[in-house]
Amino acid sequence: MVSTEHLLIDGKHVPGSSGSCFDSVNPADGTVLARVPTGNADDGSHAVAAASAAFESPEWRDLMPAARARLLWRLADLIEARASELALLETSDQGQPLSIAANVSIPFAAEVIRYYAGWCTKIEGSTAPVSVPGTFFYTRREPLGVCALITPWNFPLMIAAWKLAPALATGNTVVLKPAEETPLSTLFLGRLALEAGFPAGVVNVVTGGPEAGAALVAHPDVRKVSFTGSTEVGKSIQRAAADNLTRVSLELGGKAPSIIAPDADIDAAVTGNLQGALLNSGQVCKAYTRFYVARPVAEEFTEKLSQAAASIKLGPGSAPETELGPLVSARHIADVERLVATGVADGAELRTGGRRSDGPLADGYFFQPTVFSGVRDDMTIAREEIFGPVLSVLTYDDPDEVVARANDSDYGLAAAIWTNNLSYAHRTAAQLRAGTVYVNMLPLLDPAAIHGGFGASGFGRELGPAGIEEFTEDKGVWLGL
Ligand code: NAD
Repeated sequence: MVSTEHLLIDGKHVPGSSGSCFDSVNPADGTVLARVPTGNADDGSHAVAAASAAFESPEWRDLMPAARARLLWRLADLIEARASELALLETSDQGQPLSIAANVSIPFAAEVIRYYAGWCTKIEGSTAPVSVPGTFFYTRREPLGVCALITPWNFPLMIAAWKLAPALATGNTVVLKPAEETPLSTLFLGRLALEAGFPAGVVNVVTGGPEAGAALVAHPDVRKVSFTGSTEVGKSIQRAAADNLTRVSLELGGKAPSIIAPDADIDAAVTGNLQGALLNSGQVCKAYTRFYVARPVAEEFTEKLSQAAASIKLGPGSAPETELGPLVSARHIADVERLVATGVADGAELRTGGRRSDGPLADGYFFQPTVFSGVRDDMTIAREEIFGPVLSVLTYDDPDEVVARANDSDYGLAAAIWTNNLSYAHRTAAQLRAGTVYVNMLPLLDPAAIHGGFGASGFGRELGPAGIEEFTEDKGVWLGL
């Protein structure tokens, strides 16, 4: 059954002001799941007005930190209570295997909210030993006001939660703008926030495409834009935010290198890199995509990687045996196909995959896990973010040179090293230009571990204590004694 969705503004479920809607589609079979309002600038303004009023309301402004924490705990409890429903929704809207939705996306959303619930009562200022006689100085960390939280389609609920939780823990109010491909779990989250008891207007959700997002960014009453998405849109947001000097944090694209040293455990590296590359069909900003393999072990690594990739079971996320789901949309699979074609045209060797699935999967957006070897640093597949199940193997001879090659990218979100040499691991971790470096492991996340990028991967840090800093500003207070 196709559901009809509404915007969430000022605690009410309302249609979009234009009356126009878009379809949210199941990428596993192309069927329409829901009709969703196409929010516009008017809807954005209404949501910002509601969030501004809620920010000033005594009901929210004067709520004690411990009470804010209890609301966040209640929200996390509600997510857990509705976890199986939310997991199914995420799988049908986004495509990810149900095991990922149920074991990663939904639990992480609940955990990150609990993590920041704990922070509510620990946001401290400080005193400074000023040398002006007869005075006392201290600082306060204060909320910013209305925050626009603009999210992408790859982990819709999880990323919405990791922005929402610190924003609310610090006393801000928000307008969430989910990606047009995957709005459903964020709308669900908005309903749960109301049920948890957040006052009307504290959490608003406006659905729609670029127009809805751009209207929020340009709004003079928005004090902060927290954006996760593509580098291109991130740049346009920074430009648009300049007019009002709105704060922005940008979590953007990635092209993570993974260095496999000659002493690495090859079987562990194959398993770890395959999972690190293919989680959520490679639609992960930190996915490992460029494999720099020491020449003596390159053929063994590539052959094992290709065989393992070829044996992966593709299918709808809802099928229990599925290991790899579809890509998110018709537009995205066309982009992945175009980039793979450049790899073939540039002379890389296609070891497995390279095309969409046909047969029973032809109605969905399924792309076969693809491994290229003989990739050169200047090929498009080694430089552009593909955001799909496409792995490029490059070889290296000189361990000093490989770091420079790994760093020769506009992006700098994540990097991986596979080695049994501890001092090499630490030395290389220090040299890699990336927001997060992983040694002998998958690109995992934790609410307590900061996340963010260098260069074209953006700036600002999310998760961990950094999330609190991103949503507060410091105020100095002087007292004449
Ligand atoms: P996108 O940039 O196309 O869209 C992201 C969001 O921005 C959507 O909600 C979209 O509607 C909105 N938007 C589009 N144009 C806008 C504008 N002009 N002003 C304001 N909002 C606008 O990205 P996507 O295709 O949804 O997501 C994939 C991208 O996200 C990839 O590049 C991926 O690497 C990146 N990503 C990064 C991280 C990270 O933490 N660094 C995490 C996940 C995804």
